[in-house]
Amino acid sequence: MRQRISGRRERFLALALLAHLAVACEGPSEPPAAGRNLILVSLDTLRADHLGCYGYPRPTSPELDRFAAEGTVFERASATAPWTVPSHMSMLTGLYPARHGINGWEEALPEDIETLARLLQEQGYRTAGMVNVRLLSRDRHFHRGFDSYQILSLSHQEHGARPMIDRAIEFLEQDHAAPFFLFLHIYDPHSDYNAEASHRELFERPYSGEVDGTTAQLRAFRQADPIPDWGAAEARRLVDLYDAEIHQLDAELHRFFECLRSGPFPDNTVVAVTSDHGEEFLEHGSVLHGRTLHEELLHIPLILWGAGVPHNRRVDTPASLVDLVPTLLSLAELPCPVGLDGMDLTPAWSEPDGWESDRWVFAEADKWNNQKEGNFRRSVRRGDFKLLYDHHSQTREVYRLSKDPEERQNLADKEPELTRALSQALDQFMERARVVEDTLEMSEEELERLRELGYL
Ligand SMILES: [Zn+2]
Repeated sequence: MRQRISGRRERFLALALLAHLAVACEGPSEPPAAGRNLILVSLDTLRADHLGCYGYPRPTSPELDRFAAEGTVFERASATAPWTVPSHMSMLTGLYPARHGINGWEEALPEDIETLARLLQEQGYRTAGMVNVRLLSRDRHFHRGFDSYQILSLSHQEHGARPMIDRAIEFLEQDHAAPFFLFLHIYDPHSDYNAEASHRELFERPYSGEVDGTTAQLRAFRQADPIPDWGAAEARRLVDLYDAEIHQLDAELHRFFECLRSGPFPDNTVVAVTSDHGEEFLEHGSVLHGRTLHEELLHIPLILWGAGVPHNRRVDTPASLVDLVPTLLSLAELPCPVGLDGMDLTPAWSEPDGWESDRWVFAEADKWNNQKEGNFRRSVRRGDFKLLYDHHSQTREVYRLSKDPEERQNLADKEPELTRALSQALDQFMERARVVEDTLEMSEEELERLRELGYL
């Protein structure tokens, strides 16, 4: 009897093996997830709501829209900070600024913090970083874990997209014996908004004022006391110039995306396209970025594409830049360290809408980018509600984003219990904050550079 059962089991296994071989012979099977290449693309200062794939009515982004339709779009993705340094560190560490500690100019990433590049390097990946601004410097340890780390810092009048994409394509076209991780940062559409005429002509509406879209002028506006009397016409002018800048970037991305669509990449490569923060056009009285935590600065694109990523999907689960590390590791079937702030977003495409819709999402604006010395701002979001906290004035504002996306109706007084719950979550979050000592000395040249970029 035992013999017979055993014999049947063997026959069953043999048949199963034959069936498997038959399937394998019929056509190409799904390539293994392990060993997938990973590419993280950060397009600096790119607002989600100025892209067609996020509902923008102007034709700023045909290439990104097509790429997004071939992959999965996270509709509610947030930056962790409204400026370049802390947000990028979150992308690369999976930690909020409060946890990685890089919230100003003069801190370097503590040695005990892992980066995506180093984790992948330890797994045998070849790791390459290509960044377009000196802010993402070796001094701050952005280069941790990269076999090669190139900084192509141009003047703020120059466009970074073309040379950066040239370099990225050159990298992709090399022979890759091992899986690779490429971190590509492009400084467009950051100001100056000075796209070439062929792009500007598509978006410019009649305007006769003085607004020119240069960082110098925008910085002067922000520093003036009282600030100049700019209104709807000036905001519209800035939007036209910014949209042209996006269009120019988008046109350059065409070559990069075409390269990714060719060869083995669609089957063995995962691409994440995102941004570090948005840009404001007088929605809350100011311009540029860095100081507040309103949606024009926090709502960023997040598009996943490639091997293992569903086509033409949209996910409404709130996402954050801290999710990139666990999500990319998951797509490469690599272990993720415990204790990260972010979560793996890949279950989103097998779960129904509403999955993790109640998760907490935080953001931080540090002392250096606030007008009052020593001030900082924090925000926390859960579901539809978002709390903004200003340390200097000790004020709390609460907004219901589905009904009030422009964040104009402060519900803090009307909803004291909700305000208390959100404040408590924010307090608990900040209890885990890490203080990193300032160790970097800023040279006069770097200070001048920061002034040029509009930061100081
Ligand atoms: Zn930036």
